[in-house]
Amino acid sequence: NAIELEDVVKEYLSHGEVVQAVRGVTLGIAEGEFFSLLGPSGCGKTTTMRMVAGFEEPSKGVVKLLGKDVTNVPPNKRDVNMVFQSYALFPHMSVWDNVAFGLKQRRTPQEEIRRRVGEMLEIVDLTGREKRRPREMSGGQQQRVALARALVNRPRALLLDEPLGALDLKLRQAMQIELKRIQREVGITFVYVTHDQNEALTMSDRIAVMNDGLVEQLARPREIYERPATAFVAGFIGTSNLLAGTATGGELKIGGGRVLVPGHEGDVTVTVRPEKILIGTDEPGAGLSAVRGSVAEVVYLGTYNSYAVSLADGAEITVFQQNANDATATAERGDSVWLSWQAQHSY
Ligand code: ADP
Ligand code: MG
Repeated sequence: NAIELEDVVKEYLSHGEVVQAVRGVTLGIAEGEFFSLLGPSGCGKTTTMRMVAGFEEPSKGVVKLLGKDVTNVPPNKRDVNMVFQSYALFPHMSVWDNVAFGLKQRRTPQEEIRRRVGEMLEIVDLTGREKRRPREMSGGQQQRVALARALVNRPRALLLDEPLGALDLKLRQAMQIELKRIQREVGITFVYVTHDQNEALTMSDRIAVMNDGLVEQLARPREIYERPATAFVAGFIGTSNLLAGTATGGELKIGGGRVLVPGHEGDVTVTVRPEKILIGTDEPGAGLSAVRGSVAEVVYLGTYNSYAVSLADGAEITVFQQNANDATATAERGDSVWLSWQAQHSY
């Protein structure tokens, strides 16, 4: 593993009270991995990163880089570099000088500086812009300069704390693809902090979903989306429906129908994603989960429609349905409908 955290805790004293920003995080990040810490504001992402970088000492636990305990090693002696949302470029220096800065400080030979800065500017696609100043560039270009400046030192790992947060949506999406390409090209470990689930799902090899100082799930994007480990993860990633009740005989009686929960008895909470549900007027077959309701709202969203369906017992279910070419059987507000889905899509 490139990075390991073993039961890491961080406590702050705030107005005479102990606040646990990180409450015991254990995880391992493989070399060359694109790893994301994802969670809402205040859940402890930045604090976790600062402990990896060495800007913050854990109250408890161990931080390891490449198998070596670095818990009490200062940041400049760790083989990691950090990039922040505010790129903190030197405004009076050219792009070239900004990127070359760290190498010059370390008295790297002129010829090597020329080669490495040139290579790095090519990787971030800024060749030809060497003489510009940061303020003459767009936000996305400035972020690429910051990236080149961090990468030119060849750290073993790069830590990025919401680096695209200041960019508008279009540019952010373009930079997500760009960042992923750069990471593949340089082949080093990226640890990426974001509160944006789409960003994490798009870019990451694996994601740790954090909530209130703890990791709730650590898995590949697809698994986090398809098999959320907790209700928090299901609610935070994408849209999902939560149905609660008491199961008997592997079924939950809800909304004039049934939710199949094979192997479960007693109180259960079931999650089902809106796009896994079919909406129709005919009663579905016995092998499916099926509930009855009436359409309370239809929202047209271009490639798909979103339906809010009220069940008899008051629960509301969201359904996404693709808009196919032939626009078959779309339900209208007030229609009585059946909703159905396969048992494997409840969890
Ligand atoms: P995130 O990056 O996920 O938004 P942070 O790691 O910045 O979360 O913060 C986690 C929690 O720790 C928050 O409740 C925050 O207020 C608290 N916290 C962070 N830094 C300090 C500090 N230096 N002193 C006191 N409390 C802090
Ligand atoms: Mg933060």
